[in-house]
Amino acid sequence: MQQQWNLATLAIHGGHKKEEFGALVTPLYQSATFVFDNAEQGGRRFAGDEPGYMYTRLGNPTTDELERKMAMLEGAEAAAACASGMAAVSSALMTHLEAGDHLIASNALYGCTFALLGTQLKRFGIDTTFVDFSDTLAIEAAVQPNTKLIFCETPVNPHLQVFDLAAIVDISKRNGLISIVDNTFMTPLLQQPLLMGIDMVIHSATKYLNGHGDVIAGIVCGREEHITRVKFEILKDFGGVISPHDAWLILRGLKTLDVRLTRHCDNAELIARYLEKHPKIKQVFYPGLESHQGYSYIGKQMKRAGGVMAFELNADKQAAIKFVNSLTLFTIAVSLGDAESLVQHPASMTHSPYTPEARAEAGITDNLLRISVGLESVEDLIADIEQALNRNV
Ligand code: PLP
Repeated sequence: MQQQWNLATLAIHGGHKKEEFGALVTPLYQSATFVFDNAEQGGRRFAGDEPGYMYTRLGNPTTDELERKMAMLEGAEAAAACASGMAAVSSALMTHLEAGDHLIASNALYGCTFALLGTQLKRFGIDTTFVDFSDTLAIEAAVQPNTKLIFCETPVNPHLQVFDLAAIVDISKRNGLISIVDNTFMTPLLQQPLLMGIDMVIHSATKYLNGHGDVIAGIVCGREEHITRVKFEILKDFGGVISPHDAWLILRGLKTLDVRLTRHCDNAELIARYLEKHPKIKQVFYPGLESHQGYSYIGKQMKRAGGVMAFELNADKQAAIKFVNSLTLFTIAVSLGDAESLVQHPASMTHSPYTPEARAEAGITDNLLRISVGLESVEDLIADIEQALNRNV
């Protein structure tokens, strides 16, 4: 029944269980542990012979509702909520990888994901080859006998380049690889990679899913066999579980995801068109523009282009920084997907974990800025950009 609902309805009602006192809103079970009627019952629960909660690191009713809802939204068999987007990325990877394994990842990624793959996993004997994922032949050429996994984001941070998920599924299936996609920028309302054959999806729920800038969290979605391992091996033993309070806040945020995303996309499309025509702007990177590489995927792989874009000023780093400091409505902060419009300088902020060479290869120049378009009036946002451009560049 619930499966037939549209995504906007699922985001509100999906996975909800009737509450014993009739509360409309899912209660927050802010409890670290759960009481057993007697010692025998505790034993049965730990042995898996009786359903029921034991300890919040192993499961919690509030968190479970978030996981059920996210699984429905992504079209997944199951989902696991995590303490952060990075906990979701690392938990998904640790479910599949061991020392001696190799993975292939896009050479443009969120900076900490790049550091995790390129530096941290190396310490445990896991090697990554970074490839330009717009070149599907290069992805295939990077497959080695010990390759286990393919990882990418699409659209990719910060240039919003879009990768061909159907091709990635094809390469993964032909080579027996697990495919994982970071769907943070799109959310399941704009893109559902699992329905295209991707094996696992991860999110930084810190962003659009929560949408109010007050939570750090992540989600992994996928097949039951994989998510059982994420929850009852990786999260149980490495400990990157979500707080029930954060799960509750995300459940609240998800109720408005559909209307928020519509506004984010509408605002972003208008700002991208304004910037594209502006003589002080060198280039705009936004898949909603015909000039962008990702435009042909709109309406096919992804429903709309989302609320994040990057642009290069016709100026040097100093002028770009001055422009950022002159904005009065855009807030200078990393993150994205909040009600507030945010601006950041990828080279010195989100992508600072990249080496200068890796940054140059990924095209993260010193005059590149990324904005997360919020829910404010678009006229006010454009007026703010205009006054900052007029002042400095
Ligand atoms: N994936 C993407 C695409 C991101 O932009 C981020 C954070 O900005 C992350 C993962 C990491 O998420 P978190 O900050 O919730 O750990």
